[in-house]
Amino acid sequence: MTARILVVDDIEANLRVLDAKLTAEYYDVMLAQDGPTGLAMAASERPDIIILDVMMPGMDGFEVCRRLKDDPATRHIPVVLVTALDGRADRIAGLEAGADEFLNKPIDDVMLFSRVRSLTRLKTVIDELRQREASGRRMGVIAGAAARLAGSGGRIVICDDNERQAQRIAAELAIEHRPLIETDPEKAHLTCRGPVDLLIVNANARTFDGLRFAAQIRSDEATRHMPILAVIDPDERPRMVKALEIGINDVLPKPIDPQELSARVRTQIKRKRYTDFLRKNLDHSLELAVTDQLTGLHNRRYMVGQLNALVTRAAKGGDPVGALLIDIDHFKKINDTYGHDIGDEVLREFAVRVATNVRAVDLPCRYGGEEFVVIMPGTDLIAAERIAERIRAHVSGSPFRVAGGKELLTVTISIGVASTLGAKDTPEALLKRSDAAVYEAKAAGRNKVIAKAA
Ligand code: GH3
Ligand code: MG
Ligand code: MG
Repeated sequence: MTARILVVDDIEANLRVLDAKLTAEYYDVMLAQDGPTGLAMAASERPDIIILDVMMPGMDGFEVCRRLKDDPATRHIPVVLVTALDGRADRIAGLEAGADEFLNKPIDDVMLFSRVRSLTRLKTVIDELRQREASGRRMGVIAGAAARLAGSGGRIVICDDNERQAQRIAAELAIEHRPLIETDPEKAHLTCRGPVDLLIVNANARTFDGLRFAAQIRSDEATRHMPILAVIDPDERPRMVKALEIGINDVLPKPIDPQELSARVRTQIKRKRYTDFLRKNLDHSLELAVTDQLTGLHNRRYMVGQLNALVTRAAKGGDPVGALLIDIDHFKKINDTYGHDIGDEVLREFAVRVATNVRAVDLPCRYGGEEFVVIMPGTDLIAAERIAERIRAHVSGSPFRVAGGKELLTVTISIGVASTLGAKDTPEALLKRSDAAVYEAKAAGRNKVIAKAA
């Protein structure tokens, strides 16, 4: 996976070294020699990752980072700060400024590439979510803007068999968050399936393999988005690299510095809330995209997609598919007599009656106006006709109560029934047969079910 990387450093030799290293690994590199130029390039080029030197004359790396994270257009781009080797104070200031990662000078190749790889993966996920969210917005199905998301009040599971270390971490985090200690990884895994914002795991645990445990969390559908922070002995460099490779979001070197701990935790929680927010909006927009707004039934677009798949399967020898086309009788008269709003109420009540009279696997859909389609997997013509008759009787059998109970309307429907005919059948032909059947039902006096065998 390649990425576009912007490197900002005031010393030209440093730029040249990073350029050479990254280009050799097929990354696409852009260079800027001071903060303001870096900011301008970040805004115009939208790189995937920004590597930023802390010490620069004029605008330093912290300030550049703060500005990047304040601007909604660049906020999501991961920033790696390059700090002096013993840069504890720098790292804390950097995390406060919103930096995502750190590299010590002189830059170690293995750490550089593993950081860049893990941030590229993260960026890909965020981009995908942002893009789908943007198209949701264009379709008008997502309202409101992304709020600024807080990094405090997080629910944190600490999985560690070293109780003293766990207690110290918990005590520090309890100031801002709700930490919970689990010494048993199995129990920790179960807890993580619930509402948890962050998992902290001891990668040097004695009674279990912390990295294996982290990998399990990643591969479980219910927990795979969980941010994971690993506590690692910095002398175990291969383990540190391995941790980032298996998708651990961040590592915390021992001995644990309380300020660095709380800053890294805050960053992870903020990021988790941001991706949760995007994901939630996405689910919501997908749901809206397949749902009819008036009745809550599936819409026509969704129905067509499902019908295509089912009919294709039936044509290849799979189960038959039944289709009902339902049209409300003299619906125009209901509108004309009682008004459009009452007409809408009738459509809603009708939708409820249909939906409660079919199986869970059936797909009741609003086809348009006062026409509805019910797709029934595994249903032949005779069974479909029986269900249609049940729906017809259920609609005409008791009047619709509308206008807050003030009006009682008798509503009847005409239903055309068809089912798949084998290898040559198509969704269009199936719907056409049920449409012709509705036409016959209307001609035969309405409030009728007609099934069409061919
Ligand atoms: P028929 O028995 O032959 O089906 O008669 P009909 O009056 O039901 O048929 P027609 O297709 O002529 O009229 C359908 C009416 O449904 C016309 C249209 O204004 C109305 N309609 C379509 N969509 C909606 C809607 O969302 N809400 C309301 N209230 N009316 C709608
Ligand atoms: Mg009609
Ligand atoms: Mg009608």
